[in-house]
Amino acid sequence: MPELPEVESIRALLEGALSGEEIESLKKSKESLRKPLSKSVSYFKGKKLHSFKRWGKKLYIVLEGEKKDLSSLEVSLGMSGAFRFHGPNEVKKEKHDHLVFKLKGGNQLIYNDPRRFGWVKFFKETPQQQSWDPLLGSGKQRELAIKALRKTERSLYAFLMDQTYITGLGNIYVQEALFRSGLDPNLAGKRVSLKRADDLLLECTLILKESVKLGGCTLKDHKLIDGSSGGFQHKLMVYGKKKGEPCLKCGAKLVHQKQPRTLTWCRKCQKRK
Ligand SMILES: [Zn+2]
Repeated sequence: MPELPEVESIRALLEGALSGEEIESLKKSKESLRKPLSKSVSYFKGKKLHSFKRWGKKLYIVLEGEKKDLSSLEVSLGMSGAFRFHGPNEVKKEKHDHLVFKLKGGNQLIYNDPRRFGWVKFFKETPQQQSWDPLLGSGKQRELAIKALRKTERSLYAFLMDQTYITGLGNIYVQEALFRSGLDPNLAGKRVSLKRADDLLLECTLILKESVKLGGCTLKDHKLIDGSSGGFQHKLMVYGKKKGEPCLKCGAKLVHQKQPRTLTWCRKCQKRK
């Protein structure tokens, strides 16, 4: 499932390639996504692709109407959602193309999603965000996230996976941020000192920035819209490593835990503190 850096890489490419273009028509497939698009396709005719924004793992296509009024489409890529982009003479139809934006001049922007866990939802305005995005969030949102973390009985792993206070990290970056912070993923949030909580959030920001620079992590599904791959998969210290494989930092055997997805960590490097 794409996490913040993967979505950010897609956003930046779309922004560079398509912002300012006008929609000539939108076609919807008969197959439905997890949430149906609650606006008729005729609404989109003549709207401009004003910009592409992101919050956490969600992408926003901001649309501009004739009177400079802005609305937006919130896109969640789910498990296997992806955008592709064709120039005028290279249009190819593929199975599971759910939305096809034909643009004036012949370009096409296509949302494809074989497993259909993703969705595209219409908003009159770009929604206000409450959760802290480690790259875009405000100081106040960060403070609230630290407070919530230091109150919770839940484990650090569960707290970071849940998107309520901190948004953007999933199974990959949560495991990597906890490893880099030297924190046991099972430690209850309320047992973490202010300093360590602050360091953990800083680590979240740093790791996401690093991955964005590399175009995200390509494991199974994530491809950039030009079909190229990200590079952060080569930086992974724990995620996806085998049980018993030596820790790249200390050499101890890595452990696996079912969460229900596999959580990999090092008991020696990640101590309860
Ligand atoms: Zn280790």
